[in-house]
Amino acid sequence: MKRKINIFGTTGSIGQSTLEVFRGNRDAYDFIAFSAYDNVDQLINDCIEFKPQYANIGNEKHFAKLKNVLSDTGIILSYGRDSLVDLACKKVDWSMSAIIGFSGVEISLLCAEHSKILALANKEALVCAGKLLLSICKKNNTKLIPVDSEHSAIFQCLEGERRKDLKSITLTASGGPFRDWSLQRMQSATLEEALKHPNWSMGARITIDSASMFNKSLELIEAMHLFELDFSDVEVVIHPQSIIHSMVNFKDGSTLAQLSLPDMRGPIGYSLNYPKRLNIDMENIDITKIGSLEFYEPDKKKFRALEIVEKVGRNLDLGIIFNAAKEIALDRFISGEISFLDMVDLVEKTLAESSLVNKIKVAPRNVSDMLEIDELSRVIAKKIKF
Ligand code: MG
Repeated sequence: MKRKINIFGTTGSIGQSTLEVFRGNRDAYDFIAFSAYDNVDQLINDCIEFKPQYANIGNEKHFAKLKNVLSDTGIILSYGRDSLVDLACKKVDWSMSAIIGFSGVEISLLCAEHSKILALANKEALVCAGKLLLSICKKNNTKLIPVDSEHSAIFQCLEGERRKDLKSITLTASGGPFRDWSLQRMQSATLEEALKHPNWSMGARITIDSASMFNKSLELIEAMHLFELDFSDVEVVIHPQSIIHSMVNFKDGSTLAQLSLPDMRGPIGYSLNYPKRLNIDMENIDITKIGSLEFYEPDKKKFRALEIVEKVGRNLDLGIIFNAAKEIALDRFISGEISFLDMVDLVEKTLAESSLVNKIKVAPRNVSDMLEIDELSRVIAKKIKF
């Protein structure tokens, strides 16, 4: 029997790397659902190549085009959120949840309920609803395999180890385009400058999140949920070469690290083939060519996202507020309304103001709680003035 596969966020950077992993061995799988929000042309190409049973476009205005081009393919086409939610309820063997941001959270939760394996690239699912997600996985016996490169590294290092032997983890960060910039220079950082990531090629939003280190702060919370760690057990180090993707420190003084070239096909292939390692057409690192690897502590005065995340690290229920504020901050930076460094102030202020709102004080127990807390946090974040 062929394994049934869903890929949500097909046309994004992770979605495309996922297709790259399947390319060449397409016929060994049954593709069930593909989805995209706006990129209808790429979705059409992917549907023609991989022939999924269903394809969903988020933005209704592109539906006519999708229908026109794919009408005689037999693919069942739909648009909008409700149909996407239905697709995430299909029983499959493996789902890639790669829709970025809060809009991917509900889809991740549904995949956790209906897929045998959840390959999770949507880190917000853990940040915003970590407890809920893990309990759904447990209840449904779903294997959650992280696809974020750092978390895949940790997951790989922990394979065959006893959880109680783990002492702490070291998350590596490239440092992004502003690694060597002064704080003063960062004050006038432009959108264009924030979009120049030195090592990874990713979508715009996550690239800016990498420049501000909000991405790393989300990853820190992601790691706490996934590996059941306290805030004090997770450290972040800058590693400009992005060769070591993270490290696990054990109680006997040993540290294991996972090394590879920065290419998401590695973590995706691992989550697809787990626990086996199958052949992926990817170069191994040549350590003699790399020569030296550097590591140093991040400057938290420059990258305050790493400082303010401590509040969330001490109370994981705040993750959903932190993320909502971060997404609004990003929107307001992209639109030119606030400066690069204003983003972290906005998130800090939203966390402070939301603590005064009773409805936000409760931990989300289900999807509707989650949507409400997210929405209320966004209202606060939008109103903060600069
Ligand atoms: Mg990452």
